[in-house]
Amino acid sequence: MRKNTQNLLIKEAGLVTGDGMTFLNKANIVIRGDKIVYVDQEKPSGVTFTNILEGKDKLVLPGIINIHAHGIIPGAPLFSSASDPLPGSQTNKNLLTHVSQGTTTILNVDGFAHPRLISQAMSTCPINLKTAITHHPRAYIAARRIDASGLKGQEEEKVEKIIENFPDIVVAMGEAGSGATLGGGVQDYKFIPEMIKRETEVVIDEYQARRLKEAVLGKEIAPDSYNPEKVESVLKEIGLENYSPEWALDKISQTVLPSFGIAIEALEEGADLAEKYKLPFIVHTAASSMSKVEEIARLGNLLVAGHCNHPSFDMKEGIALIKRLRGKGAIIDISTFDTLNSREREKELSFFFAILEAGLADVVSTDYGGGNHSPILEVLELAIDQKVITLPEAISLVTRNPSRAIPRLAPGRGVIVPGAVADMVIVNRDKISQVEDIIIEGTLFE
Ligand SMILES: [Zn+2]
Repeated sequence: MRKNTQNLLIKEAGLVTGDGMTFLNKANIVIRGDKIVYVDQEKPSGVTFTNILEGKDKLVLPGIINIHAHGIIPGAPLFSSASDPLPGSQTNKNLLTHVSQGTTTILNVDGFAHPRLISQAMSTCPINLKTAITHHPRAYIAARRIDASGLKGQEEEKVEKIIENFPDIVVAMGEAGSGATLGGGVQDYKFIPEMIKRETEVVIDEYQARRLKEAVLGKEIAPDSYNPEKVESVLKEIGLENYSPEWALDKISQTVLPSFGIAIEALEEGADLAEKYKLPFIVHTAASSMSKVEEIARLGNLLVAGHCNHPSFDMKEGIALIKRLRGKGAIIDISTFDTLNSREREKELSFFFAILEAGLADVVSTDYGGGNHSPILEVLELAIDQKVITLPEAISLVTRNPSRAIPRLAPGRGVIVPGAVADMVIVNRDKISQVEDIIIEGTLFE
């Protein structure tokens, strides 16, 4: 429900300002129009308020800025594979889910979405919405080699033109690569199970697909990792004992490899464009792409290494990579994926928490693990409860830091100070994952 909040006082609420340090126990915040005009422990004097929000049991945070989301734009091809768009009802639901979890700014990283689609989506949802794009030649080829059904009947557009024509909507390049073109998660939950079903009528799940893929190609997606004995035992485990390791080598290679080499080249091509246009470059960071990601870390802080806690890394290897990337100035993003519902929840959480605890994360985003994501505030709440990170530090990873990482995504947002845009999320003081109200550009949604 929308409520007009011209001249609103939030009275004596807990406040995390987003700067990474500040927590006020009893803060008074005044919003006028779409701006924050007053923040202090003292009550403002000499002003009457048309609306007062009692803050006693509440905690006010800057609205969450999520820089890695898929499946939120009606009509937009999905992933670097430009797969068929989700139904509009699903993208709307996904977007509203993000908002209901406290997100007030979101960056679409389905890079084949045309900015026109973003403008349309913005007209139906109050959230601050921008996009990253990936309309360059090698990215197109990679998409066509794996799928590109979402681009049917469309002409190829030039990245240069799009950047020129939509400077307010295109704020980054990416997502360069994805599990679809780089042999990762989308292969596991979509393309490999689809192929196995087609060829054998056997239904396998994403974990089984991943085990088979890794037995054939390794985590790095290298054909010389083929291990016939291992493949044979995985085939047996997943109900495909009538098929030979050579068959699996053939079929898995045909499914995963055609897009792989060109998708790696697209990372290089995208890096050059990012440099030319000074746009942050969001890349799919995983075991399969890590050596190329490291090469393009020459971009410094224009490189946003997406979801560095990717499940294809073992913890030690992942943390070593993060340290090397950080050393070159890259922005380290980690994603909640679908961690809380994952079968490997404990393992995934301990990796996520280890990165937080070592102070190696710059940004936390959601990504889109198999079609779902775990709410950012729920995962951060667990981390805070387990003393992995403090509350102000945790909140800065999803507010001030992402607004700095992608400067044109959310200017004037990400912190609660006088003069800032009034984007905030009001949560239960004792349970930050319980979102009570959301304020976007001064308008209250409850
Ligand atoms: Zn990705």
